[in-house]
Amino acid sequence: MKQVIIFGECMVELFQLVDNVYHQAFAGDVYNTAVYCKRSAAAQLNLKFLSAVGTDLVSDKLIAQLEQEKLDSSLVLRTKTARPGLYMINTDCFGERSFVYWRDSSAAKQSLALFRQHHTVERLLPADVFYFSGISLAILSLEDRTYLFTLIKELKAQGVQIVFDPNYRPALWPDAEICRANFDQAYALSDIALPGLDDHKVLYGCSSAGDVLAQLQTLGVKEIIVKNGSSGVLGYSEGESFQCPAVPVKKVIDTTAAGDSFNGGYLAGRLNGLSPLAACQYAATLASFVVEHTGAIVTKEQFRGFSSR
Ligand code: ADP
Repeated sequence: MKQVIIFGECMVELFQLVDNVYHQAFAGDVYNTAVYCKRSAAAQLNLKFLSAVGTDLVSDKLIAQLEQEKLDSSLVLRTKTARPGLYMINTDCFGERSFVYWRDSSAAKQSLALFRQHHTVERLLPADVFYFSGISLAILSLEDRTYLFTLIKELKAQGVQIVFDPNYRPALWPDAEICRANFDQAYALSDIALPGLDDHKVLYGCSSAGDVLAQLQTLGVKEIIVKNGSSGVLGYSEGESFQCPAVPVKKVIDTTAAGDSFNGGYLAGRLNGLSPLAACQYAATLASFVVEHTGAIVTKEQFRGFSSR
């Protein structure tokens, strides 16, 4: 059985149904990826979520949710001094959604400080894949980020594949230059990169997926999948580039987690032995299903419908 570690933050989501009535769920970029990866490759992999929560009731519910999704919660550490981050999705009278976050002091920010107090890299081994995102990086203190890069170097030396999606969120970084320096470091350590073209347009001034490939090849990444919404992806592996179109949908309902679900599907495909192109085709089919539904994570029943198509 393959061992996967996914590192980052899962938050409480409050989704406005009507006026002051909200539906409560759990979501977050790497959590969404973990759920779709595990659902896609269930029996073949053990997926550990590396994070931190509090000791409150909502934190207990978050852990219960991970377990319901058959994610291994043994690396979700507890702190008495913080609680999970939270965000609200509100919809205005024109149907426009807006997100408001309360994550500045979330428990997940302490995850690596807690890990370092109690464990060493051996606690993460054996592992086949370590997955993290630009958001996982952004929420850490400078000291913890430095520690994360050391940890990743140690994992890499043990043969663990490192997978990174930049998921650029300007509001989480003090400035673009600091962010670029961190992303460059993350890319240089990565075996697989799953960037969105939009992130690289804003952050690096790239104008095409080809620009992103060239940039990441220079940083030494061997497998690169550049996502570009409904225009599909440009991939690169074993010295060859390839295109994979998006799967057309009748009606886009909600693009939340399109990239996260794509990443989960891609990882599951690769871990199950699919080629990069075949893994992209599966991931694009999954992401197209996700954008046809509301919310980051489709229900288990909807997912069963997808799997049996
Ligand atoms: P990211 O948020 O990481 O930049 P994208 O927005 O590029 O990710 O979306 C990831 C994947 O989701 C795309 O490569 C595509 O397969 C699928 N996707 C996104 N938007 C659409 C859409 N409108 N129609 C069909 N598939 C889509």
